[in-house]
Amino acid sequence: PAPLDTSTCVCAYTKLSSSHTVATWRRGTAACERALQHEVGERIHGFTVSQVTDIPELSLTAVKLSHDSTGAKYLHLAREDTNNLFSVQFRTTPLDSTGVPHVLEHTVLCGSQKYPCRDPFFKMLNRSLSTFMNAFTASDYTLYPFSTQNPKDFQNLLSVYLDATFFPCLRELDFWQEGWRLEHENPRDPQTPLTFKGVVFNEMKGAFTDNERIFSQHLQNRLLPDHTYSVISGGHPLCIPDLTWEQLKQFHATHYHPSNARFFTYGNFPLEQHLRQIHEEALSKFEKIKPNTAVPTQKPWDKPREFQITCGPDALAADSSKQTTVGVGFLLPEKGFEDDQIEALLHKIEIQMKHQSVSFGLTLTSYIAPCWNHDGDPVDLLKLGSQVARFRQCLRENPGFLQEKVKQYFKNNPHKLTLSMKPDDKYFEKQTQKETEKLKQKIDSLSPKDKKQIYEKGLELQTQQSKAQDTSCLPALKVSDIEPTIPLTHLEVALAAGETPVQYCAQPTNGVVYFRAFCSLHTLPEELRPYVPLFCSVLTKLGCGLLDYRQQAQQIELKTGGMAASPHVIPDGTHLDVYEQGVLFSSFCLDRNLPDMMHLWSEIFHSPCFEEEEYFRVLVTMCAQELSNGVPDSGHLYAMVRAGRTLTPAGDLQETFSGMDQVKLMKRMVGMSDVRQVLRKLPHITKHVLNRDNMRCSVNATPQQMSLAEKEVEKFVRNVGRSKAEWKPGHLSVVEKPAPSGSSGSTHISGPRVLRKLITDPTFKPHQMKTHFLLPFPVNHVGECVRTAPYTDPDHARCGGGEGPGGRRAAAGLEGEGGLRS
Ligand SMILES: [Zn+2]
Repeated sequence: PAPLDTSTCVCAYTKLSSSHTVATWRRGTAACERALQHEVGERIHGFTVSQVTDIPELSLTAVKLSHDSTGAKYLHLAREDTNNLFSVQFRTTPLDSTGVPHVLEHTVLCGSQKYPCRDPFFKMLNRSLSTFMNAFTASDYTLYPFSTQNPKDFQNLLSVYLDATFFPCLRELDFWQEGWRLEHENPRDPQTPLTFKGVVFNEMKGAFTDNERIFSQHLQNRLLPDHTYSVISGGHPLCIPDLTWEQLKQFHATHYHPSNARFFTYGNFPLEQHLRQIHEEALSKFEKIKPNTAVPTQKPWDKPREFQITCGPDALAADSSKQTTVGVGFLLPEKGFEDDQIEALLHKIEIQMKHQSVSFGLTLTSYIAPCWNHDGDPVDLLKLGSQVARFRQCLRENPGFLQEKVKQYFKNNPHKLTLSMKPDDKYFEKQTQKETEKLKQKIDSLSPKDKKQIYEKGLELQTQQSKAQDTSCLPALKVSDIEPTIPLTHLEVALAAGETPVQYCAQPTNGVVYFRAFCSLHTLPEELRPYVPLFCSVLTKLGCGLLDYRQQAQQIELKTGGMAASPHVIPDGTHLDVYEQGVLFSSFCLDRNLPDMMHLWSEIFHSPCFEEEEYFRVLVTMCAQELSNGVPDSGHLYAMVRAGRTLTPAGDLQETFSGMDQVKLMKRMVGMSDVRQVLRKLPHITKHVLNRDNMRCSVNATPQQMSLAEKEVEKFVRNVGRSKAEWKPGHLSVVEKPAPSGSSGSTHISGPRVLRKLITDPTFKPHQMKTHFLLPFPVNHVGECVRTAPYTDPDHARCGGGEGPGGRRAAAGLEGEGGLRS
């Protein structure tokens, strides 16, 4: 899945559930009540109910079932949430590194019996109102989730998912395309040399240029060396060419079977309907098998082990001799653990559990999948409240409880691995050498007849790939399937301290308050712009007021679910050359901690600290490392951002904030002997951003919490100073524009209008530019960007609805790109 940033601006915060839900979202809602009526032993469409559990802390009811004739397991979580989710999960525990589960995940999406068209997920994008569609290969399971708010769409997608996973075509050419194949460099010319090709083959070559990935892969492989965890489920580039089409089909037959499947549904759609469809379209066509996919317990070692591995040098690092990674798991507190630390952790568990997102169903399925996969009880896992209570009881009964655990699991544990990894300048050269040997070995074993076949199949694949696909077999939503009205989300805007607009939205938030603020940066001198991302990432980490950085971190952990600042570029909806730049502050906390959280924001705005030079250096190094580690894996995103740079002023700023220029700047800072000159720039940015002249805020909380929230926000805003910065126009100009208001789209806003300060650069001329970054990775990423129409233009939708060859990833990345197609 692509790590895409889909954050929205403060005033576009409308994707939550309807106001109707606010009124009904309590314990004992329709969905939960209906689910509670099921009885243990009840038989529904081939399934038998085995457990019904009310879980009030998550406002849901869990119904556990199993399928009578196949043994398929089923968990339904009924909850008054319209964003319904389905997932099916198979235990896939390979015993070699050919990547068979990963190749299979790709190949099942190449067409199925009922839907024989390639890449049905991608093709469904414009036939569905799905809010999520994807597939994941983990080291021991493969998960296929989707979500949607439309009942008919749910049935359509369910049909596609069931057919893809249980009845895929798995044609030989699909395997060639997605897994690996030998093909002539130019498929039309049999005189050109043969090479390895294939989607998964290339994907894994890319994955193994990410040093963090290499390290964690080895860590797992060597810590649990006896069974499936000693191999690479995604596939090792040198082992993938050992996989055969026969093995792939065999793996599907034994692993993608109902007896090895776990079904999960979530939301307010009725359970019976799901069960009937799953039984009729898939499960009724199978008989029970013994899947034999369980993983035996790892035998503990009698003494610790140590390994050294190598990786490629970090292309962006200043000093390649200082890049050794070491991982040791060892911890021994002499005096035990501080109560505050324990409380901070328990608080973290509580707030994570209550934290609401639009994709709560997806969060839940990802949370329970690894444990359920090994027959752990998913319902027990959801009862976090009782687990925390049990932990507290253990601590009460035995104050040395945690120390004993440390002794047991760390100090006296001989099953301990020390893994170190250092860069080898010849790493990539050696990898290429190994691949060349493997290729030679494959080619040497070919008969003239094999070679002829390779050439012919290569041509056949090319013809097939360029043929137009008939997608008429796929189900599609009709206009009549869609509710003609969208439930309005009511937003109320009020002025704090008589001038700062604050948007209030009452929502069923499980007792969590969400506070966000946006401060415009339109007065910021251009030379400070590149430092805004760094400013944001250290602002909440270097201390504030009387708190040093450690105390601040502890307060944030104890009182909030997180406090963060991030640079934000919002392209204007009506003009491609106009945009808003600023910093978005986001945070959330439990109801009871709101005063403390707002106090922390006050301190950060009022007296942020930029003094801790040593710790600042640590933060810079961490940021830079994180950025450069992401380059090989997210290369397509960097290519896209870069490609948009010369087409709009907002695109240019996006590159400065989050493109390759930013990566290079951060890497340069790591190499500096004196970071003070950078640290000294940050207070200058403060003057332009941490003030209330161009601030707007938003609060989401339960209706009961609103008046307190209003009081706290008022106090905070009054405390924030006025801008001390002077506006020096340079060549940029600022236009004032009201934010959308009144009843539009899916929101109804009441209260005063919000004015925004937008920026435009009259000297900016869109032009074409081609850039190539030479990096020592064996995978290339390409992005092309075209200037099209702004968001409110009728042509925007037309430009956005097309299908390109970019695949699922690229398609997903286009959402909200503000008039640019990449
Ligand atoms: Zn993949």
